[in-house]
Amino acid sequence: MTTATRSPGTPGPAHSADEARTDWVSAIPFFLVHLAPLAAFFVDVTWQDWVLCAVLYVGRMFCITAGYHRYFAHRTYKMGRVPQFLMAFGGTTALQKGPLWWASHHRIHHRYTDLDGDVHSPRDGFWWSHVGWILSTKYKDTDLDGIKDFAAYPELRWLERRSWIGPWALALFCLAFFGWGGLLIGFFLSTVLLWHGTFLVNSMAHILGRRRYATADTSRNSFLIALITGGEGWHNNHHYLPSSIRQGFRWWEYDPTWYALKGLAALHIVRDLRNPPARLLDQAKVKDGAFDIGMFRSYWERAAKVTGERIADLSARPVPPSPEASGPTAPPLAEVADATASTTVSDDQLSTLAGLISKALESADALAASTRRRKANKGAPADVEATEPAAE
Ligand SMILES: [Zn+2]
Ligand SMILES: [Zn+2]
Repeated sequence: MTTATRSPGTPGPAHSADEARTDWVSAIPFFLVHLAPLAAFFVDVTWQDWVLCAVLYVGRMFCITAGYHRYFAHRTYKMGRVPQFLMAFGGTTALQKGPLWWASHHRIHHRYTDLDGDVHSPRDGFWWSHVGWILSTKYKDTDLDGIKDFAAYPELRWLERRSWIGPWALALFCLAFFGWGGLLIGFFLSTVLLWHGTFLVNSMAHILGRRRYATADTSRNSFLIALITGGEGWHNNHHYLPSSIRQGFRWWEYDPTWYALKGLAALHIVRDLRNPPARLLDQAKVKDGAFDIGMFRSYWERAAKVTGERIADLSARPVPPSPEASGPTAPPLAEVADATASTTVSDDQLSTLAGLISKALESADALAASTRRRKANKGAPADVEATEPAAE
């Protein structure tokens, strides 16, 4: 197993506006599923249908968090071929495409988090990170090269091509045993809730919450998102130690996916759970003064956008033309832009300066990554790496 290192110099292909178009025809079923629960107003709905909704939400969320995410994307534990297939099949019933598609795209998210190659960074907008990327034409296909380890299993490739079987079977089961209320509330409503619960991790978990570790991205820890997603809200913890089976690192960090996996380990259904090494838990903490390259980059990019990329030009700070103009209040942004535009700095100088600053960012990033890797390598072999998912 190799550690896939994030390479700051090669952030991966940026998605052009053209490539990132929404595929509206393929998106029709996505929107229809959202409308389906409304039809429940016209049928009898029983309390059993609501229980079914809750059970299918929790059960399928577990298949996504423990299966698609912590197993297929990050390999944080091991299991035999039969439970592996059952977990993958359970994941398909959540209507989030096949395990190979899901996990391979998630590995890309970790490799290029908040860089141009990221499949769903909120720096490209909330809508894009939440659902836009899923509905886009760009990420429709599965690149099996990104998930060779699991694509090697013929039964998983078979399931990947037939990921529609699980949801159809489940929908028919709900209709046959619970009637229309079971289908509309039990199946469709829980599917919509499940979708947006999962999507929150891609969008809000990079926006809402606090940062404990100075990771190279904008990931956050949020109790609310952990509550909704069965423990996936400790996203800053997760980006810090992606190969750890648990995402809640403290006893109070609610992580039922982890508790359930511990239960399955006791039953010998899963094994070799990769725990976060204790000594890494107390390193790279923002509160201890670690350089927060992720947030620095994020603020820098936003500032560059607001000032029309002129922020890179440090010599172009507006100088008030006369003493009267230098009041206690800062000049409005438009004036700042005008002032910077009127300086005599050449485009060549600007791009040199911008280049120097991105180089500085890259080396800070590389330094942070290598420091954490070195510290991680000192540990016992069972420990997880501090940098990237156990991909490949
Ligand atoms: Zn993330
Ligand atoms: Zn992950």
